[in-house]
Amino acid sequence: MDAISDPEQLKAVLDLQTVETELRRLTRELADLEEQKRLDAAIAEIDVIRRTGDGLRLEMSEVEAATRKEEREIKVLRARLDAERDRLYSGAVTNSRENQAAQAEIKAVEERIDLHETAELELLEREDALEAALAANDTALTDQQASVEHLTGVRDQAASRIIADIAEHEVDIPKRRGELDAGLLASYDAAAKKRPGRAVGQLISGSCTACSIALPVAEANRAKRTPLYDCPNCGAMLITIPLPKDAPSG
Ligand SMILES: [Zn+2]
Repeated sequence: MDAISDPEQLKAVLDLQTVETELRRLTRELADLEEQKRLDAAIAEIDVIRRTGDGLRLEMSEVEAATRKEEREIKVLRARLDAERDRLYSGAVTNSRENQAAQAEIKAVEERIDLHETAELELLEREDALEAALAANDTALTDQQASVEHLTGVRDQAASRIIADIAEHEVDIPKRRGELDAGLLASYDAAAKKRPGRAVGQLISGSCTACSIALPVAEANRAKRTPLYDCPNCGAMLITIPLPKDAPSG
């Protein structure tokens, strides 16, 4: 029997299209794995947390430097205050004008110390807040790393299923191709190159299953006179004869 008149061969080419389409779908799924996207997002979040931590540590070092600067200022001003008081109470200041000037100087230095102490206090509060933020950042990083580890496992599991499915298809497809008539296979391959997944269709109830468009009645009747007909709409190899049913699996 000519291959294009053999329902078994025509069914085999239609089935080949189905499994090749499935292999393409699996390959896309592997490349576009949801689990992979979630993992990528979680890894990106780790970078965000790390950058936030880096920013906090930089700010902390700046605040600590500012605190030390205030401490040095206060130390210098206290020494000056002590010296001024010593001078005032040592009896070196004899007239009231000098006395007034010394009192005024002491008052001015005391006020400056107050200002620096207020600034230092604000800086110490800022340090406390930064320390708390850094601790929260550390916790977030640890949590996110655990999440990445978990999502890596989920991704591996999902990927391993797809990879196993692909491996099965990669064994199955050459076997199916080997059982097909060479001429029919060549026609299918040429059509599949142009219309992957829609190279072959069936004429069912007057419509092409590849493009879902109904043939004009006269043309459908004409098509039925040959087992394979080119769909006038999409160009698919249109199988017009009934195909054998799948054997029950199991
Ligand atoms: Zn069609």
